[in-house]
Amino acid sequence: MKILFVASECAPFAKTGGLGDVVGALPKALHALGMDVRVVLPLYAGIDWNGLDRLEGTLGVPMSFGTAWCGLRMGRLPGSDVPIYFLEHRHYFDRPHLYGPPGEAYDDNLERFTFLSRAALELCKALGWIPDVLHANDWQSALVPVYLNTVEWAQPLHGSASIYSIHNLSYQGVFEPGAIPVTGLGFEHLNAHELEHFGTLNLTKGALYHATLLSTVSPTYAREIQTGAYGAGLDGVLRERSGDLRGILNGIDATEWDPATDPRLAARYDARDLSGKAICKVALQREAGLPERPEVPLLALVGRLVGQKGADVLAAALPRILAWDLQVVLLGTGDPDIERHLTWLAGAHRDRFAAWIGFDDARAHRIEAGADFFLMPSRFEPCGLNQLYSLRYGTLPIVRATGGLADSVVQYDQTTGEGTGFRLDDLNPDSLADTIGWALATWHQRPTHVAAMRRRAMAQDFSWARAAADYRAMYLAAYERRRGHPYRG
Ligand code: ADP
Repeated sequence: MKILFVASECAPFAKTGGLGDVVGALPKALHALGMDVRVVLPLYAGIDWNGLDRLEGTLGVPMSFGTAWCGLRMGRLPGSDVPIYFLEHRHYFDRPHLYGPPGEAYDDNLERFTFLSRAALELCKALGWIPDVLHANDWQSALVPVYLNTVEWAQPLHGSASIYSIHNLSYQGVFEPGAIPVTGLGFEHLNAHELEHFGTLNLTKGALYHATLLSTVSPTYAREIQTGAYGAGLDGVLRERSGDLRGILNGIDATEWDPATDPRLAARYDARDLSGKAICKVALQREAGLPERPEVPLLALVGRLVGQKGADVLAAALPRILAWDLQVVLLGTGDPDIERHLTWLAGAHRDRFAAWIGFDDARAHRIEAGADFFLMPSRFEPCGLNQLYSLRYGTLPIVRATGGLADSVVQYDQTTGEGTGFRLDDLNPDSLADTIGWALATWHQRPTHVAAMRRRAMAQDFSWARAAADYRAMYLAAYERRRGHPYRG
């Protein structure tokens, strides 16, 4: 089976969040199942060109103003044979950021990602490689399913099924309705079924209408986005396609995130012998400038410091939490107001709270290994990766029970000792502080429960192999839907 992934991110080449992790890992797991999977990605500034092969010729991509030409380079996803094609277009992609400076978007993002979506289709035709399924991811490639049903009508790619995966519904690709000609589509597609949404041009809506099947990155998020509270205005559209929407929990890169082999750690450990974790904890306390006290519980948060992650709720809860004998380390970037507030709090509680404002992958690993508890008080969370890393590193997650957090963290039961973490339902500073208080009480009063939970957490299977089997089943279903007969190989 031939599958093309179209995406704006793919780790380790270009990543701003979970989307990049998925596109960097899932194709490898599908390839291991025997599928011919390939990826197409813009060649952004900063991607190392050494090691990429230059493909001969240039690719002509139909755009509203005529043909845009790009070069093609090819590499492999690290540690695999999965081909990745890079679209080399200096004007669109040789820029300091993927989408724009922090908090801003480039003015021509509609044109840039129209180009990505359209070029992906032209690439297939130029290679003479017609995928059975095109897998588009988030708004930057949302036009792919739309094109398959419109400009590719009765063309070679029209028989290809399409999957549209939602990694985060809060980014929908919303533009002025008058900009629709930039996509190459006519105004007749600006209707309430396809691309028009309350007077705007909404690329995600177009994909939700046109894709053969839909998916998102956890079963709970798949249900939540069909409700007004989580649907970001598209819940009605999603309810209409309820039967076509699947929720498949992301996996994690189990070689990158493995406490038994992680070279970034002060010591390595596994579920049988956690003594290395104690060394990592002291090392983290030292790195953070906190007192080196093994007996005090160490809580951590890594992630974007934005409302989605509940960073504001944590900031409001911290004064109460920091009155207790504990330590908190935090690594993240995001909303400047939240960053300032957290930095100020850290300055006022130097012996208990360290806040690093920045993005640092190696430090994120050291935090996962060194902490005792990991905080994710998210307002919504499509899947979330950090709680999966935490479980694998034996760092018990304290999460709001939403989206992928609800699907991956099992509530602690203090009568039986079962569970893998601590969950809260209602998100506000007091319920967060209360849940943290519960975790701390467990730490002090039931250390055997904590030890057993750690081992249980580390034994969970969040491999991509599990997720890949579900994706394969979805591709087969999409193929059959599109062609009217099952895939016969
Ligand atoms: P989202 O995609 O919503 O940002 P996820 O939990 O799905 O959240 O994925 C975030 C990814 O980015 C994880 O791999 C996480 O470790 C990483 N990450 C986020 N912020 C930072 C940071 N400041 N430093 C290092 N890694 C970070």
